[in-house]
Amino acid sequence: MKKKTKKKIKRFILLLVFFAVVFFFSFFFDKNLFNNLKDTVVKEVNSVKEEVKSKVKEIEKYTKGKEEVPLTEADKIELTNDLMVFFLDVGQADSILIKSQDEYMLIDAGNNADGKKLVSYFNSLGITKFKYVFGTHAHEDHIGGLDDVIKNFKIDKFYMPDAPSTTTTYVEVLNALEKKNIKYSIPKIGSKLTFGDSNLEVIYVGDDNREDLNDTSIVLKLTYKNISFLFTGDLTSNVEREIVSKNIKSTVLKVGHHGSKYSSSAVFLNQVDPKYAVISCGKNNEYGHPHSVVVNKLEKLGATVFRTDLLGTVVALSDGDKIEFKYVNTDTDGDSNEKI
Ligand SMILES: [Zn+2]
Repeated sequence: MKKKTKKKIKRFILLLVFFAVVFFFSFFFDKNLFNNLKDTVVKEVNSVKEEVKSKVKEIEKYTKGKEEVPLTEADKIELTNDLMVFFLDVGQADSILIKSQDEYMLIDAGNNADGKKLVSYFNSLGITKFKYVFGTHAHEDHIGGLDDVIKNFKIDKFYMPDAPSTTTTYVEVLNALEKKNIKYSIPKIGSKLTFGDSNLEVIYVGDDNREDLNDTSIVLKLTYKNISFLFTGDLTSNVEREIVSKNIKSTVLKVGHHGSKYSSSAVFLNQVDPKYAVISCGKNNEYGHPHSVVVNKLEKLGATVFRTDLLGTVVALSDGDKIEFKYVNTDTDGDSNEKI
């Protein structure tokens, strides 16, 4: 063979080896890339599947063979009933809007990120004024959006416990109040307020002496004819024990502290004896709320449990004798994108 030909063959082989290496690496990397992509897609599909499954399971609980549970889905809620209590979907937080005849009140306003969304939802309902606004206690998941509410609506009376905090969120609420020239009041235990044709009783409020800020939560009982609601903020079992002797028996219980196991003691739940219980908590929240022990206790008592993480906003509608529930998407959770 000629030297030139040999050289050519050598060059050709080298080129082949080079291409083989390039091909191998590109295939290897592509495969990795492909696998990663596949993993992400499979994970995403599975998580959506799980979510749909749990929602279907939750809704089936109320519809399959349990016709007495009055829950239906709504596209939109109109302010038509005498008494309406909205357990708003604000993720891992609390916000409860109440209408009694032509008056409105608000208990808590979710996290900071929920404030603007709540304001636009209240606007869409045509609300311009609240007779009462309560900040149950100084934690961000309860008073976070209150500054936005204060800035945007007329408020007759604003209540918070005598247990201040040094957080920016708390200071923002105080500043917003000052700008609107509203002084906050400290509710008195046992006092009764009129609200539409309903009665509102202050069952409990804690002060600065409480070690746990959750135990300063304002607890309210709303009664309209034969239907009543107990709103407990984030009260723990420590204080539940102190109020069991009071008139706390209620048709509907807003379950304490997002369904945490440190609230909802058996003695307290027995006394409230709710027919319905609403848990306000975030989808897949980091705290594992609601705790299965709490849900089991409630179901054992015969209460039907509605969860905002599974249903979205839950609305109770009543004429004072009958009660029914609707669930609706209100787009009021400001953190919803971060949680996925
Ligand atoms: Zn809370």
